[in-house]
Amino acid sequence: MMRCPEFRYHAAKTVEEAASVLADHGPKAMLLAGGTDVVPNLKRRQHRPEVLVSLRRIPGFAGISIGGDGAAVIGPGTTLADLALDGRVAAEWPGLSRAVGSIASPLIRATATLGGNLCLDTRCNYYNQNYEWRQSIRFCMKAPAPHGSALTEDAGGSVCWVAPASPRCWAVSSTDGGPMLAALGATVELRSKARGKRDIAVADLYNDDGMLFLKKAPDEVVTRVRVPRAAGQKSAYWKLRRRGSFDFPVLSVAAAATFSKSGEVTDARVVLGAVASMPLVLAESASLVGKSLTDDVIAEFAGAASRHAKPMDNTDFQTAWRRKVTAEFLTGALRELRGDDPRTMGQLGRRVARGASCLG
Ligand SMILES: Cc1cc2nc3c(=O)[nH]c(=O)nc-3n(C[C@H](O)[C@H](O)[C@H](O)COP(=O)(O)OP(=O)(O)OC[C@H]3O[C@@H](n4cnc5c(N)ncnc54)[C@H](O)[C@@H]3O)c2cc1C
Ligand code: SF4
Repeated sequence: MMRCPEFRYHAAKTVEEAASVLADHGPKAMLLAGGTDVVPNLKRRQHRPEVLVSLRRIPGFAGISIGGDGAAVIGPGTTLADLALDGRVAAEWPGLSRAVGSIASPLIRATATLGGNLCLDTRCNYYNQNYEWRQSIRFCMKAPAPHGSALTEDAGGSVCWVAPASPRCWAVSSTDGGPMLAALGATVELRSKARGKRDIAVADLYNDDGMLFLKKAPDEVVTRVRVPRAAGQKSAYWKLRRRGSFDFPVLSVAAAATFSKSGEVTDARVVLGAVASMPLVLAESASLVGKSLTDDVIAEFAGAASRHAKPMDNTDFQTAWRRKVTAEFLTGALRELRGDDPRTMGQLGRRVARGASCLG
């Protein structure tokens, strides 16, 4: 059995208290929400915090409300289950419901939170392994040998096993919520002791770097997620994974668009997930504006946009195949936006529609 290393548990009762502990302890403190990512990482010794600051006892940290402007204001402590099952969210932002409803398993979704999902660690086949496995091939730069381990003379920490000549880490952004919230134009509120409050678009929350993948500073707490409502907006989320029951994405397409009464796109944002260290907001989305989503328009868009998918060989499936199916996933998501029922789009569409978006 893998055990967690020793740590001090601090159950914050307010956001200010959580931010204060982060400020006081710097990199030695870490936030804990549902723990569905943090705890396995602790057991594998990828993190060794001295203090774990739990957010679960903060009153009002969870909950979904719809404001007078129609926007959803979601507490970061809201569980993925509550979010996925919320009828108001499903009606207004169906892509978000599907994205969070596709995460992990029902049991995990009952504990996992939206805030934790947005800040989810990046993933790599050489990183998501236990301590001994990583030690046996020499620790990579994302998770060097912990201080005080038996490997002090050769702690690793300078090489990337995926791209040994690379100075950076290519671990993959694997959040399902991030790409969809970016496509929907959502923002998060961040709070720190030193700098107070600031808002940042989810689309701007990430860096394309497997180690420094968040633009959120380590002392900042995600305190609110706001999803704007746009009249006539449609959204869709298509996710590729091996097992439809609970796997992480190895490719996802999050798409949101608004339409004029005559059916032309008035605004669009399409985001690729799980093909880089950050969700990729596709610049080609702007080319859809003013057009109807005809088969030709969709095919041209999918062909151009799929070139951004350059997955590395550090998650599931062959990279060449993942690149190849990107256009298919983009096509499916855009067809769904224009009103096609995914269940009429062959086996893949039927699987996406029932949330089991795997091809395996
Ligand atoms: C078997 C399995 C399958 C999974 N499948 C998927 C999947 O398909 N898709 C997917 O996206 N995820 C998946 N996950 C990962 C994880 O369960 C989810 O991403 C979950 O939403 C993480 O939320 P949490 O509350 O458990 O986060 P935690 O584990 O508590 O925290 C995750 C990270 O977020 C930080 N954090 C948490 N809350 C805040 C906050 N308010 N402010 C700032 N930082 C914060 C923590 O410090 C930590 O760095 C899976 C996990 C498992 C074990
Ligand atoms: S991409 Fe390279 S540095 Fe990053 S986790 Fe994988 S092997 Fe380690």
